[in-house]
Amino acid sequence: MTNVQQNLETIKDHMNAALSRANRQLSDATIIAVTKAVSVERTVEVIEAGLQHLGENRPEGLNKKLDAIQSDVKWHYIGTLQTRKVKSVINHIDFLHSLDRISLAEEIEKRATSTKDCFVQVNVSEEQSKHGLSMENVESFIGELEKYSRIRVIGLMTMAPNTDDENIIRNVFRNLKQLQEKIALKKISNAPCTELSMGMSGDYEIAIEEGATFVRIGTALVGKEREGIQ
Ligand SMILES: *Cc1c(COP(=O)(O)O)cnc(C)c1O
Repeated sequence: MTNVQQNLETIKDHMNAALSRANRQLSDATIIAVTKAVSVERTVEVIEAGLQHLGENRPEGLNKKLDAIQSDVKWHYIGTLQTRKVKSVINHIDFLHSLDRISLAEEIEKRATSTKDCFVQVNVSEEQSKHGLSMENVESFIGELEKYSRIRVIGLMTMAPNTDDENIIRNVFRNLKQLQEKIALKKISNAPCTELSMGMSGDYEIAIEEGATFVRIGTALVGKEREGIQ
C-alpha cells in the first residue's frame, strides 16, 4: 500500500464513524483531495487510490496538473480567485468554492461557456484574515446572483477558525448549515444550495457530524511536499 492509500483508509474510517454518529449514510460526504502542495506524481497516487475529486487553489497549480493528468476527474477550485484569472480557470473546473463578490460573478458570466457549480464562500467566524461574505449578507448576495445564468449556487463553503476549541469550530459549521437549509427552502431556481463544503485535515470529523457534504482534505491525505503553501 502506498502512503496515500494508507492515509485514505484512515480518513475513510474516521469519516464513516463520524457519519454514523450523525445518523448519515456512508455515501453522504465526498472527499476532495487537496493537492495544492504536492507534485503531479503524488496527485496521480491520489487518483490511483480511487479518489475522483481534486482541489487546487492557484491557477498555476491547476493548469500544471491539468496538463499532466488526463484522467476523468472532477476539479475543484478552492482558493481566492482574482477576477483577471477567471478566464484561465473557469472552463477547466467543475466546482468553484470561493464565490464571494459580484464582480467575480460578472466575470464568470462573461467567460464561462456553460453553467458552473459554485459555492458561496462565507466567513462565519468573521476573522479578518479570511475571505468570504458575512453570514448576514449571504441571502441578499444569492438574490443578486439570480441574473447570472452561468452560475448555479449549489451550496455554501467555509473555513473554520484556527483554534483548538472544538466548540467554536462546531458552532461555525452548525451556523453555516442552518443558513444553507434556510436558503435551500426558498427553492431559488439557480441556487438549490443543498451542499456544504466544510472541514479540512484537522476538523473534517466535526464538519461531517455537522452536515458537510464535501470535505477538503490536503495534509492528512497527501502530506506536504512544498513548504509555505497556504
Ligand atoms: C489548503 C486548503 C485545504 C486543505 O487543508 P489541509 O489542512 O491541508 O487539509 C482546504 N480548504 C482550503 C480552502 C484550503 O486552502
